[in-house]
Amino acid sequence: MTDLLTANFADHWVLDPVAGLAGVADVSLVAGQIVSVTWRDGEAAARACWAAGANPGPGDPTVALLPALIDLHAHFRQPGANASEEVESGTRAAAHGGYGTVALMPNTEPAADNVETLQAAIAGERHSVRLLPIAAATVGRAGTQVSDVAALVKAGAVAISDDGSPIADRAIFRAALLAAAAAGIPLIEHCEDPTLTAGGEAADGLVASRLGLRPWPAAGELRAVESAIAVLRDVVVTAPTARLHLTHLSTAAALAVVRGAQGEGLPLTCDVTPHHIALTDGWIAGDSRWAWEVPVDDEFLVPTTAAFDSNLRVCPPLRTMIDAFACREALRNGTALAIGTDHAPHSREKKEVEFGLAANGIAGIETCLSVALSAHRAGELSLATIVAALTTGPARLLAITTTSVTPGAVASFVQVDLAASWRPSRATLLGRSINTPLLGRQLRGVVQLTVLEGRLAYQRPRAAFCATMVP
Ligand SMILES: [Zn+2]
Repeated sequence: MTDLLTANFADHWVLDPVAGLAGVADVSLVAGQIVSVTWRDGEAAARACWAAGANPGPGDPTVALLPALIDLHAHFRQPGANASEEVESGTRAAAHGGYGTVALMPNTEPAADNVETLQAAIAGERHSVRLLPIAAATVGRAGTQVSDVAALVKAGAVAISDDGSPIADRAIFRAALLAAAAAGIPLIEHCEDPTLTAGGEAADGLVASRLGLRPWPAAGELRAVESAIAVLRDVVVTAPTARLHLTHLSTAAALAVVRGAQGEGLPLTCDVTPHHIALTDGWIAGDSRWAWEVPVDDEFLVPTTAAFDSNLRVCPPLRTMIDAFACREALRNGTALAIGTDHAPHSREKKEVEFGLAANGIAGIETCLSVALSAHRAGELSLATIVAALTTGPARLLAITTTSVTPGAVASFVQVDLAASWRPSRATLLGRSINTPLLGRQLRGVVQLTVLEGRLAYQRPRAAFCATMVP
């Protein structure tokens, strides 16, 4: 374990989403604690800057300090698939991605439907990253019997979910929602109607039909979302503490329905993933432009040599630029409270196969911040929106506090060079599996340091230490 840090971070672009402050500031640490944050133009200006989106202007510093990120949805594959990822490699990857807190999904082998497995899922070298286990909602994630939620919460579970698959039986789904309500935690649902999506390989549409991939229609998500909301509407009448969170939503249609239900006052939240805000199904045909760039046109739907990259196989599938726009709009208007990575590492054996046979999932915890910052550079998302979606938003769902960049706090923050760029590769990624379609792509936003609990949890190799160390 490294020493408690004493250092001055002068002239940084500092973001404090808890107090709603942003701007140029000097931050001083003594023995791991933030002792001062001095805003160059004063607090009133910092408050106005946050309200205006917290975006640095020309001439402002390009090295930023933000609170250590919080991920509400990751898979570290322990126990059962440690060859793909485990706590040691997953937390090393998380610290590189700027994360200080990660909630882990329970689709391990066996599933985390019991106290012993729940604890095994977070055991090991953590690189100072705080791990929050999510318990399986049903026994064996089989969807037929609700888990012992009270015992799992007592053992540390922060939510229940059968993620990886939906709770298809609506009576069981209802019982799980009630059990979570009684235990004071949210139910996180993976929304998919298997009667519509079984065998689906890519989003229903031009790309799937041109490439001959079996379709996964948008209705498969919409139907599941509508049905889940109908059950929630019924349950809150007798269980007002019920909370439902719909994870990795990917379609404009489903997000519109969620927004409507939130307008009714239902206790309903959702998140979107970095790949659904930034990538489209055109990537599967070899057209790897960001979702906000020029529309897909037919010439790119002739499969190129880059087509059928199985790192693009993910559930729910990548969709149209209209859906990706809706995912970004959901962040801007508050329908989605978080960007959840859905970090889903898979070993080469599970990915280096035909597209339709590949395991679903993208390893994304190390690239999420850079992908979001690419959207920022394109003018699609403000820094305030991004930082809130990666800190205070997920904290609200998980009922934890965000350790902000504020005097008196034990330092847990990430220093990121907004102007520098890097390329994901086996040499630069720290996770055990590198199943990402972003391999080799130049990404903006380089994490220089991640400081957790006052100590260095990650430092970029060979990078100049962008702070003054105080002896
Ligand atoms: Zn899922």
